[in-house]
Amino acid sequence: MQLLKDKIMKEGNVLPGDVLKVDSFLNHQIDAELMQAVGNEFAEKFADAGITKILTLESSGIAPSVMAALQLKVPVVFARKRKSLTQNSNLYSASVYSYTKQESNEISVSEAHLCSEDTLLIIDDFLANGQAVLGLLEIAEQAGAKTAGIGIVIEKGFQPGGAMLREKGLRVESLAIIESLENLQITFKEAVEQ
Ligand code: 5GP
Repeated sequence: MQLLKDKIMKEGNVLPGDVLKVDSFLNHQIDAELMQAVGNEFAEKFADAGITKILTLESSGIAPSVMAALQLKVPVVFARKRKSLTQNSNLYSASVYSYTKQESNEISVSEAHLCSEDTLLIIDDFLANGQAVLGLLEIAEQAGAKTAGIGIVIEKGFQPGGAMLREKGLRVESLAIIESLENLQITFKEAVEQ
């Protein structure tokens, strides 16, 4: 997605440890127009997949998910990283190791919001080692829901998450795939074999 790649080139900062900082449009401040375009792109790719709900992870997965949900006309469920005081129902949960924070988080979704009738589109902001997506897949599995595919805003193609998920036969659609952040330079991979 050219608009997204242009924005990454213009505003992305590479931090030591192969981390891309995109706080100006995705992870802190949100460029709503860009997120709308991102959401439209996901909705177009999964238009015929029979999606009933989008499943994401708070907080940075929510904006692109809501934009895609507006087009697909489905609700968004976001997994929480901290248990809410009002969350007194039974929970689906999974443990996720965060690459950027270097810590494990228990993520959870109330059983009230996912069921075996659901066909899910999982959306997240970044795909690196695939731990966040694996946690969401585990929650989907606990609910007995089907996962039709995974939509990623920025995939770090030099880390193993994308290949690991595609090898499992999952459909992974990433709108920008980064080939390398070496020498603090951003280069993109042009296309990916599904
Ligand atoms: P994974 O679980 O695939 O290893 O990492 C995905 C999660 O880690 C995403 O939800 C995102 O929050 C965070 N993440 C991983 N790599 C980066 C990065 O380079 N930049 C930013 N901003 N977040 C990242």
